[in-house]
Amino acid sequence: MSTGLVSVAYVVASVLFILSLGGLSHQESARRGNWYGVAGIIIALLATVAGVTGGGLIAITIAVLLGAVVGILIANKVEMTQMPQLVALLHSFVGLAAVLVGFSGYIEPLKATTGTEHTIKLVEVFVGVFIGAITFTGSLVACGKLDGRIASKPLTLPGRHLMNLAAVIASVALGAWFLGTESLALGLIALTVMTLIASALGIHLIMAIGGADMPVVVSMLNSYSGWAAASIGFMLGNDLLIVTGALVGSSGAILSYIMCRAMNRSFISVILGGFGQSGGSSAALDGDQSVQEISADDVCEELRNAQSVIIVPGYGMAVAQAQNGVSDMTKILRDRGVNVRFGIHPVAGRLPGHMNVLLAEAHVPYDIVLEMDEINDDFPDTDVVLVIGANDTVNPAAAEDPGSPIAGMPVLEVWKARTVVILKRGMATGYSGVENPLFYKDNAHMLFGDAKDSIDKLVSGLRG
Ligand code: NDP
Repeated sequence: MSTGLVSVAYVVASVLFILSLGGLSHQESARRGNWYGVAGIIIALLATVAGVTGGGLIAITIAVLLGAVVGILIANKVEMTQMPQLVALLHSFVGLAAVLVGFSGYIEPLKATTGTEHTIKLVEVFVGVFIGAITFTGSLVACGKLDGRIASKPLTLPGRHLMNLAAVIASVALGAWFLGTESLALGLIALTVMTLIASALGIHLIMAIGGADMPVVVSMLNSYSGWAAASIGFMLGNDLLIVTGALVGSSGAILSYIMCRAMNRSFISVILGGFGQSGGSSAALDGDQSVQEISADDVCEELRNAQSVIIVPGYGMAVAQAQNGVSDMTKILRDRGVNVRFGIHPVAGRLPGHMNVLLAEAHVPYDIVLEMDEINDDFPDTDVVLVIGANDTVNPAAAEDPGSPIAGMPVLEVWKARTVVILKRGMATGYSGVENPLFYKDNAHMLFGDAKDSIDKLVSGLRG
């Protein structure tokens, strides 16, 4: 394939990626956006493979086939609730790729460079490996935290900010040494030591971030993986990789900003970590408060008498896979003239947009699925709120208890409705580990059980 054709293919792929991002920003066009992305990737892969000559073609074909088989196997096996950790794991691959490409680009450069060009090349290698190593280990830790293999509690070592600063300073010093040396062996030593330091920094940075801040971390690592890919693009002189990496890097950064705003946190304080370390809010633990249990039949009665209902889904709905039942229940109620709407918190579930995807999959109409800001003022005029497997995102301590670890985080103010019914299995806390005083409010009722079982009971009760 001629260089000109490869360039045209790269431009087409870049345009498709941009269209894909545009499509993914609205639920109605998300499916189309996904297909744009798939088409872009296929064109990019074909153009890259076509540009390879000689024995490399066999190696790259085997690698692509192996990757495709592993990818298809994983995609078929992974549950929707395990998506966040899968995404984190995939980010770590990008980081690892940046490290490996950086090392190979240094040991065996694609073309000989001299003077300023050579210095720029070395900077690209060094920065690429640095970002790649942080992304690699940081993403692995994030994957472990999301998967529950590593405790979500922040690890706050004494002097941790100084340790991070020392790691950065040491890396800069090694960078100066790397740029100054003519010897390949010494350069490799500098690069390897920096890789080890950056890897440790990646682990430490993410270990210090508590459960409540994980949404930002997921999108932040997404951004890092984009910059790591862009740095690979610079090293290989591949324009498509630079454009794609920059798209992922900047969209991840914008998403991190949106997440921070949704949680009323500053980006810097998230990076510095330590948030959400005290175990629980005093409000729920004071005194001998007890919760009021409610039966499925009584919830059906409440729903039959309601004119307006807001459903607030959370991570538990995803775990229980209750979305199809929720969709059926919504239809039954709407057919009876009840005004049913959904309130979605920006960090509900374990992935940005998690709830929207599940509800769309279950064919819940888009126009009744509202963002937190769009629906929060409507709770006082609502008869019944069904909280389905949500916890942190409806915790009044965030608004009412300045001592709470999640104080200041905007939440769905469900307790302002006439009646709140909370569907969950027991009294466990949410991801942030913070107790929830909502369950003890006078207008709150607990419908204990797996969310899918409870919803199925409500559906058959409402039909009967
Ligand atoms: P939470 O994690 O706060 O709470 C989920 C609740 O669901 C639990 O209290 C659990 O209680 C209940 N539950 C679990 N399984 C079931 C089941 N089968 N049936 C019924 N209930 C169940 O969920 P939210 O969505 O409210 O909040 C999301 C949290 O995750 C926030 O803290 C957010 O910061 C964090 N996070 C979000 C990310 C994102 O991008 N959206 C990424 C990473 C973290 P019980 O065990 O008693 O049933």
